Amino acid sequence: MKVLVAVKRVIDYNVKVRVKADHSDVDLANVKMALNPFCEIAVEEAVRLKEKGVASEVVVVSIGPKAVQEQLRTALALGADRAIQVETEQSPEPLGVAKVLHKLVEQEQPGLIILGKQSIDGDNNQTGQMLAALANLPQATFASEVVVEAEQVKVTREVDGGLQTLALQLPAVITTDLRLNEPRYASLPNIMKAKKKPLEVVNPADLGVDLSPRIRQLKVTPPAERQGGVKVANVAELVDKLKNEAKVL
Ligand code: AMP
Repeated sequence: MKVLVAVKRVIDYNVKVRVKADHSDVDLANVKMALNPFCEIAVEEAVRLKEKGVASEVVVVSIGPKAVQEQLRTALALGADRAIQVETEQSPEPLGVAKVLHKLVEQEQPGLIILGKQSIDGDNNQTGQMLAALANLPQATFASEVVVEAEQVKVTREVDGGLQTLALQLPAVITTDLRLNEPRYASLPNIMKAKKKPLEVVNPADLGVDLSPRIRQLKVTPPAERQGGVKVANVAELVDKLKNEAKVL
């Protein structure tokens, strides 16, 4: 069974995000970029399926400018077999990404497609669901356990107050939650080996997909600065401040 994994290049989660002075967008100049953490979990799960002998090949795909090849190489170093970059200068919207992935699913015919549940930059949480709808495939989102059994996959999902287990007919779309696994670190020999693994570059027009934006971003605003705290002498003063200054009592 072939596994297709979609990976996104995002700002590293350790970076404190800055907003451009004109509030038009987040400032990406000289900022450390990384593999979206949920995509890293998706790659790890696919590689574990291959190590168990369940998957025969792990193909990773990213849609974006040439720089996404860096994240594709990281995924190859983590154990993926080959990579596809769908080249576009603009940052694609979830619907565009889902359309590209749909075409690749038709071409590659994977038994399982794994995405992150969410990209940590746009916080969209849409692409996996849209792909499942376009490709008319069963989906299980927010997976915390994945077990492939013959023609089906059992997926455990963390839901409010407990766990839900679903059985899906393969092929299926899964999106990963944080507790699905703990991704490995790429070893130096594997980073070197990844440089030689195949990486194909595809044009969205060749797939017949139009990635023109449909959403206009009006403004990006940073969170309000935190106010400094004050020390109070006693409970009476605290209650007074809560009543008369904060006006929360
Ligand atoms: P989102 O719907 O943007 O929150 O993203 C959910 C998941 O869709 C990500 O974790 C990736 O697996 C996939 N995805 C989103 N954008 C891209 C992209 N540009 N290239 C490849 N995969 C993507």
